[in-house]
Amino acid sequence: MVRRARRINRELADVYPYAHPELDFRNPFELLVATVLSAQTTDLRVNQTTPALFAAYPTPEDMAAAVPEELEELIRPTGFFRMKAKSLLGLSAALRDRFGGEVPGRLEDLVTLPGVGRKTANVVLGNAFGVPGLTVDTHFQRLVRRWKWTEQKEPEKIEAEIAAIFPKSEWTMLSHRIIFHGRRICHARKPACGACPIAPLCPAYGEGETDPEKAKKLLKYEKGGQPGQRLSPPPDYPGSPARPLEAAAQRQAAGGTADTADSGAAAS
Ligand code: SF4
Repeated sequence: MVRRARRINRELADVYPYAHPELDFRNPFELLVATVLSAQTTDLRVNQTTPALFAAYPTPEDMAAAVPEELEELIRPTGFFRMKAKSLLGLSAALRDRFGGEVPGRLEDLVTLPGVGRKTANVVLGNAFGVPGLTVDTHFQRLVRRWKWTEQKEPEKIEAEIAAIFPKSEWTMLSHRIIFHGRRICHARKPACGACPIAPLCPAYGEGETDPEKAKKLLKYEKGGQPGQRLSPPPDYPGSPARPLEAAAQRQAAGGTADTADSGAAAS
């Protein structure tokens, strides 16, 4: 199993050499806020929401002093906006009061912030501080179980078992690759098995569409010739950037299709 798991990781590295976090951010504070907002919605929706949010509140001090109703209004498109506003106000005040206005670079500090759990902390550590971490989100959990890398159901136990298979240096990129694959090809409801480059290695082949032509139509984002999730993707991203919120809404109102979103599952 370990050998096959490592082969799948190598294949995924070939399929997604440009795998990256799909939240737009320019500093650790923006990544932390974006990750909190990403609960129960898509990264695309968060990326369409954060430009106005960070223009209004660029620092923890600014956000901690926000009028709650104004903050709620700005993050409304991400859903659960009252609860998320509460977390953002609480974590900004905690950063200001306990960490000198800086995002701490240690897991044990990050998880003391309101609205920040282990998954969010690992995303921030891995992508803003270069500290290896596994992001056990909904895609990660689904795929590693399909591949029989673990039978565990709880995120912390899954994290521990997968961490034992791969060297630490691989953890962050492995997470990106798995999440990329889950969003583009190995969907929750209908995986595109017939268009999946790792099908020969997959014990769950056949769980989804095996007809190559039909499977091809299920592919999303750059694999399906559609815009990605980031408004500012990294330079090596082969797809096109996502549209800003107003442009996407105008396109839909004019009778166009909605931009791609994750297959209904809560995306992280
Ligand atoms: S073969 Fe199907 S189930 Fe397996 S990884 Fe590919 S899409 Fe997912």
